[in-house]
Amino acid sequence: METTRRDFIKAAATAAVVSVAGGPGLARAFPVSDEISWHKSVCRFCGTGCGVMLGMRAGRLVALRGDPKHPTTKGLVCAKALFLPKIVHSKDRLTHPMVRKDDGSYAQIGWEQAMDLMATRFGEAIEKHGPDSVAYYGSGQALSEESYLANRLFKGGIGTNNVEGNPRLCMASAVGGYVTTFGKDEPMGCYDDIDHARVFFLIGSNTAECHPVIFDQILARKQASRNVLVIVCDPRKSPVSSIADIHLDPVPGYDLAVFHAMAHVIIEEKRHDRAFIDKHVQFKIMRDGKQAKVGFEEYVAFLEQFAPEKVQLSTGVDPKKIVEAARLFTFGPTTSFWTMGLNQRITGVWANNLIHNLHLITGQIGKPGATPFSLTGQPNACGGVRDTGTLCHILPYGRSVKKPEHRAQMEKLWGAKPGTIPPAPGLDTIELFRALGEDKIKAMLILTTNPGQSLPNLSPYRDAMGKARVDKPFIAVIDAYPTRTTELADLVLPAAMWSEKSCVFGMSERRYQYQPELKAPPGEARSDFDILLDFGGRLETKGVIPKGYLSSRFATTDDVWDEMRQASKDTAYDFSGMTRERLRNERGIRWPAPTTDHPGTSRRFVKGDDPLLDAGPYADASVAAGEIKFYGAPDFRAVVWLRPANPPAEPVDDEYPYILSTGRVLEHWHTGTMTMRATELRRAQPACYMEINPKDAANLEIRSGDAVRIVSRRGEAVIKARVVDMPREGMVFVPWHWEDRESLINRVTIDAYDPGSKQPEFKICAVKLARA
Ligand code: SF4
Repeated sequence: METTRRDFIKAAATAAVVSVAGGPGLARAFPVSDEISWHKSVCRFCGTGCGVMLGMRAGRLVALRGDPKHPTTKGLVCAKALFLPKIVHSKDRLTHPMVRKDDGSYAQIGWEQAMDLMATRFGEAIEKHGPDSVAYYGSGQALSEESYLANRLFKGGIGTNNVEGNPRLCMASAVGGYVTTFGKDEPMGCYDDIDHARVFFLIGSNTAECHPVIFDQILARKQASRNVLVIVCDPRKSPVSSIADIHLDPVPGYDLAVFHAMAHVIIEEKRHDRAFIDKHVQFKIMRDGKQAKVGFEEYVAFLEQFAPEKVQLSTGVDPKKIVEAARLFTFGPTTSFWTMGLNQRITGVWANNLIHNLHLITGQIGKPGATPFSLTGQPNACGGVRDTGTLCHILPYGRSVKKPEHRAQMEKLWGAKPGTIPPAPGLDTIELFRALGEDKIKAMLILTTNPGQSLPNLSPYRDAMGKARVDKPFIAVIDAYPTRTTELADLVLPAAMWSEKSCVFGMSERRYQYQPELKAPPGEARSDFDILLDFGGRLETKGVIPKGYLSSRFATTDDVWDEMRQASKDTAYDFSGMTRERLRNERGIRWPAPTTDHPGTSRRFVKGDDPLLDAGPYADASVAAGEIKFYGAPDFRAVVWLRPANPPAEPVDDEYPYILSTGRVLEHWHTGTMTMRATELRRAQPACYMEINPKDAANLEIRSGDAVRIVSRRGEAVIKARVVDMPREGMVFVPWHWEDRESLINRVTIDAYDPGSKQPEFKICAVKLARA
């Protein structure tokens, strides 16, 4: 029975369920009748941002189907989305504020008491220890207006840059890559590029299970034409490899040399685009901690060490495959998609740079079908956190806390006293939770995320949040469901869920989409916007932040949106033309969209498409239609970086001889907070497992179904084995969705992080294995 359900779900996702109440599976799952009213919205899960229609009957959400009128996802949705109505109505939703008592149990309290407690504890911490003794830890699942408001409250109101969020764990390296190469964050292409690409380069991305609708579109493109080619780079044979024309399977952590080797082949075989390079590209290397410009010839000489046969030993990749992949890459138009396999690394930014390098030296960029595109795991990591600047080092819409003029601009717009925003970045995620354990952070607000399960090297950080001690920090958690984090909180505040509040999601292709409030939240749950506004108002009353700083400005999220539009004006993100009215009526708009009649931008930096080349601070009349201008980059030239191919933080050794990599499965999403509440999804994939290569399993006398103890220098987990020819030899793979203690794989993972992006290396650590 379980196999049948999983097969159904897999088929639904990889064939991508179509619209109009789907096939028979959907029709059985959710009743469809004339009594149902249908409403336009957006899927709650991944950054693909599929357009959905939500069916409401008698105040209940009863059905979901893909929206065939959606311009990019065209009616497709995957299996997870189908169960959102059940998930929203889950019986164990949090419905009342709760406070932890001295004995560790929780007692229900009223909102008045709860909010007063939170404001008092934050106020006391700020008064005694200063603004940097408090922190906000947010989420790529929070809505844009909520993240913006929290950022505004903490940086411009309280005066601390201790503002972080879970996007630090999933896409910070992609941000670092875009910024260091192009000077501006976010992909320049769009999903339409799938329809034009001839070559797809899929790197460290199990697109088939993590972004199924994107994968379905790639598959459809490949099935429609024998000329469409797919190169996959992944140490694991994920379902994506089934459509690969070439599969590169480097030893985890050693793929940078493969990307350089591809560049070496491209140049040696004169497949590069010298005219594009001469006009749009510069070459740089880091020397003594400083950027240094070098020439094309120096780049060519640098690549010599990465000739395919020279990197075979370190990467484990057949040189012939590298040569073949390099050639295919140049056939173009080429679209690269990548995600956590590149980002969750101590060399994440550099790995991103090297993919950009391939596009830049071949001119495979800024044309239909040719783009380097980082996929995002969360629905609103792009629009909600990256763009609104809700991280410790940035400010809204490409501004930096380090730049005085940027701080001044935001202080003016926010009505904050000049000098309120500190000039130095706050603590990044790992440092923040370390500081919590050292009792340097006295109060933290966690919103719509589950660090009690999702942080790497989890045990000390769980202790930091929950362990009773003298002067323990105060932890308040806003969430819709009980999680491994709410169990550590001093105060739990019940939140309205998706479809119970109206706001904007911004997905991976820069499309901002409106989602309406359709139903009331259960019990006394309130929207995060309401809670933040209430919290701010109480801090005003206590004199912690200036009177009227939030309370006199915003009555609804529409008001917040209007200020966000204003904040984007004259920046590279300019979406000042995206009125709320437009977003309600249209099916999302891709920024930049600087005027109310602008239809949105498919490809940034391209004259005739990107409106910022026509008017405003980036306008340039000398650029011809269809020509590219990297207006964010120094000297308007994107950077090809000469990056070293450094190894991972924790290479294997005699004591810890296997590499552990973590990831996701089709049926579940992140910490399972939502998907584990759909019986069908839970039954389809009921328990954690560890994939191990048959040769390794034979050596260790491990059979499928055996419980295996996975031990690292930090902790251990006990998980059942699946002996399967998917991970390469020497590597095991564990999905990280399960919350039971034995399966909490993040007790094993490493919290070493990329020095540029501060993103931890979830994907690689050394472990030893033994039958339990
Ligand atoms: Fe939702 Fe992502 Fe599936 Fe689309 S691909 S339906 S956004 S989970």
